[in-house]
Amino acid sequence: MSVYEHEVKALLSEAGVPVPRGVVVPVSRGDSVRDLNFAAAGELAEPLVLKAFGPGLVHKSDAGAVVLGLRAADLPAAAAEMRSRVPDVAGFLVEEQAAAGVELIVGVVRDAAFGPVLLAGLGGVWTETLRDTALRLCPVSEADARGMLASLRGSRLLYGHRGTPPVDVDAAVKLLMTIGGPGGLWERLELGEFELNPVIAGPAGVTAVDARYLPAEQSLPEETPVRTADFLPLFEPRSVAVVGASTSRPNFGNMFLDFYKAAGIPIVAVHPEAREVAGVRAVPALTAADVDYALVAVPAARCPEVVRQAAGVPFVQVMSGGFGESGRADLEAELVEAARAAGTRLLGPNCMGVYCPRGRQTFVGGGLGPPGPVALISQSGGLAGEVIKVGERRGLAFSRVVTVGNAADVTPAELLRWLVRDPETRVVGLYLEDPRDGRELYDALRAADLPVVLLVGGRSAQGQEAAASHTGGMVSDRRIWETVAEQAGATLVSSQDDLIGVLAFLQAHGSRATDGDGVLVVGPSGGASVLAADAFDLAGVRLDPLPGDALEELRGLGVTAAGNPLEVPVGPRGQPGLVPEVIDMIVRRRPFRDVVAHVNVQAFFTYGDAAEPLYAYARALAGAQEALPRTRVTLVTRNGECAPPGVEDEVRRIAAAAGIPVYRTMEAASVAIAGAVAAGGRYGTA
Ligand code: ADP
Ligand code: MG
Repeated sequence: MSVYEHEVKALLSEAGVPVPRGVVVPVSRGDSVRDLNFAAAGELAEPLVLKAFGPGLVHKSDAGAVVLGLRAADLPAAAAEMRSRVPDVAGFLVEEQAAAGVELIVGVVRDAAFGPVLLAGLGGVWTETLRDTALRLCPVSEADARGMLASLRGSRLLYGHRGTPPVDVDAAVKLLMTIGGPGGLWERLELGEFELNPVIAGPAGVTAVDARYLPAEQSLPEETPVRTADFLPLFEPRSVAVVGASTSRPNFGNMFLDFYKAAGIPIVAVHPEAREVAGVRAVPALTAADVDYALVAVPAARCPEVVRQAAGVPFVQVMSGGFGESGRADLEAELVEAARAAGTRLLGPNCMGVYCPRGRQTFVGGGLGPPGPVALISQSGGLAGEVIKVGERRGLAFSRVVTVGNAADVTPAELLRWLVRDPETRVVGLYLEDPRDGRELYDALRAADLPVVLLVGGRSAQGQEAAASHTGGMVSDRRIWETVAEQAGATLVSSQDDLIGVLAFLQAHGSRATDGDGVLVVGPSGGASVLAADAFDLAGVRLDPLPGDALEELRGLGVTAAGNPLEVPVGPRGQPGLVPEVIDMIVRRRPFRDVVAHVNVQAFFTYGDAAEPLYAYARALAGAQEALPRTRVTLVTRNGECAPPGVEDEVRRIAAAAGIPVYRTMEAASVAIAGAVAAGGRYGTA
């Protein structure tokens, strides 16, 4: 069903969106042009616009169905001419022609995952050529609406540019709110497609001169009810069962038995015949196991049958793949049904499980790391394993890590809602490929009062193909994710390294109350300092000038180039105490929120082994952090690969003991600081 332009405009007008005054002249099959009566158009102010409408007419200009600049007297002839060219005309719309202005596009699109999204941008011919648009999930706030217009690359056209007067931005904001705000038109639309292009914005107001609405062809999917489990037994089970370990050919199940044995958690194996598997007591069926958590690693086809036996087990994790991600949505549905019937909650399928040092829960070899404040929800088990191992190497300490795979039952949103209230968790990392509960996730992100660092795989077209075969879902495009992150106050990063880097920064500095603002960069002179400024610029972080009264004192310390980045001799023959002294002197005059000290590690090892001066520098910096508890100190060890094995770890250890995070590149440090800035002052409650 298509809705004609004048019908949409009636809807708009009723909602309070200004549209041109107009009259409709319907055409019946047998009508000749002479029968048409344009008398009512005499009431309208010239110049007039004539438009045809009809069932097949979508892009009217392309079909020659729009003529501008007419007088009332011209209408019959123009209509006759138009009708001779345009097939299937159901009628004409005659309307007043709005004065020229800035043409905007305003629309609502339905994102597959996140639902209705308001779009605003430069309209008319600019829409396709410039693609200058801003997005926000509905409902938008007034600040969102204003921010959308301000974020356009061509926003200067709106605020007055080279002698053209500014347009009525307040009216444009009001229009956006009427469409996409709380209680706005978006709530009544069954999308489909809804587009006003153009809305003409001028100094005296805005007018929607074109309107298109295509209701959805099929009815929309029903919203799934929001569920809220207590996930504590998932992370800290009293005991666990492993289904699928073999007595003869070690498989994934056996690997997990080994992990659990090493972690020291009570385990039982489930095996149809054996009374013992790999030295672990075995029972014939899950029904006979009294556990909080069962790990299922049997072939996909047998999983539903196993899950049906899980009554009384709060959580079952299905490790096996071979479900939705490989075209077996039917088997996945059967699995979910089995879990419902058994009254258990299902993790996965197609996932690795849970890691929680506190709960002796694990899916990685090499022992449990230290417990800490960082939680991670990951749709990829492999990536979660890497973030755990690499992250722990870099000093991360985890509260809870959970992999969700296809998220057929337990979803990232449900886990996030629980984690933000978990007293052990103070920051959450999220790796997603398929936001199938997008709206719920968005709501959970907005409600989160601790920092959430978001890494989304498959944001590029190429990545989407990879992700689709990975977790069996479609991925929303990158702009939607940027919008979601911005609106929800989450920090969006673009690599695994940055995910770890931002989490590490928040772990180190998240609970530090700071004074001041801005970033001071201190390190050796040369190109590295110049590039440091560029790196921070790219990350959107300001490097403010030094306080004027510091310059003289700096000269006294032998530091002559007094900019930010500040160039101070650092090296094997340098004074390890100089940098801390300089930092202290500057921060006491002008409280920078962040201080980034960088060293060129290679310089310490070019003329022999100078690890000791490097350690001395790190210790001196640790002293500076202790002396300035309300400043966040960060260390960048550039060219760390030039140090002998173990040196970087020792530097990291010295820094970590003082709460200083360490990065190997200025880019990584700048992203971490920008990420922490995006998180605002949030850090979970202690
Ligand atoms: P299309 O279906 O081709 O998008 P439109 O209704 O948007 O048709 O008309 C095409 C163009 O004509 C618009 O982009 C706008 O520049 C101009 N236009 C249409 N209606 C009016 C009007 N009432 N006042 C001023 N300009 C108009
Ligand atoms: Mg149009």
